[in-house]
Amino acid sequence: MTKNTDPVILVVEDEPAQMELLAYNLQTEGYQVLRAEDGEEALLVVQEQAPDLILLDWMLPHLSGLKVCRSLKNDKQTRSIPIIMLTARGEEDDRIRGLDTGADDYVVKPYSIKELLARVRAVLRRLRPGIVAERLEYEGLVVDTVQHRVTVGGKPVELGPTEFRLLLTLIEKPGRVWSRDQLLDRVWGRSADVGTRTVDVHVGRLRKSLGEGADNPIRTVRGFGYSLGG
Ligand code: CA
Repeated sequence: MTKNTDPVILVVEDEPAQMELLAYNLQTEGYQVLRAEDGEEALLVVQEQAPDLILLDWMLPHLSGLKVCRSLKNDKQTRSIPIIMLTARGEEDDRIRGLDTGADDYVVKPYSIKELLARVRAVLRRLRPGIVAERLEYEGLVVDTVQHRVTVGGKPVELGPTEFRLLLTLIEKPGRVWSRDQLLDRVWGRSADVGTRTVDVHVGRLRKSLGEGADNPIRTVRGFGYSLGG
């Protein structure tokens, strides 16, 4: 069963058999899977659902994987989403190496599923540690992502699901300042019908749960957003 904190992977693939194989194996590994059959659909899904990683086939009808990749990497709202390109062996293989696609990794078809899953884990661990690490720590604050438990100085802290996801995002990169819009995208998803005021409310709750003292790790950056420490 998938939990709402399981990483969300968008698979962009026009061959139904490949799509099924990928979706089945990713779901078995505990990922939530979104699907798109062509490049235009992929861009729409990304806008609406902000996946944690994209597996992007190079050869797609209409809009090629290369164009989709460039478009996502040129948009500051989507550029941080990791992309693994799937390419056929042959010419494209050399072309993709030579071109500045902005992709974070690529896998050559025919690939072994085991290898592909290893690449997915490696890219997520490198670029999105907050969603794949089993335990994240910042000073005395510990998030156990397997048991869904948070402790401060060894004492358990009760958090609602939204506050938990907020904390996971913030602790992924201590010191990084997140704007309210970035937090909205990451924690609620773009399609959520909530405003930036909602972010303030949940950050307020998270801050309160972590203890009101001067050593509270949540920092407000006036006129911009929030960070954990820094
Ligand atoms: Ca294809």
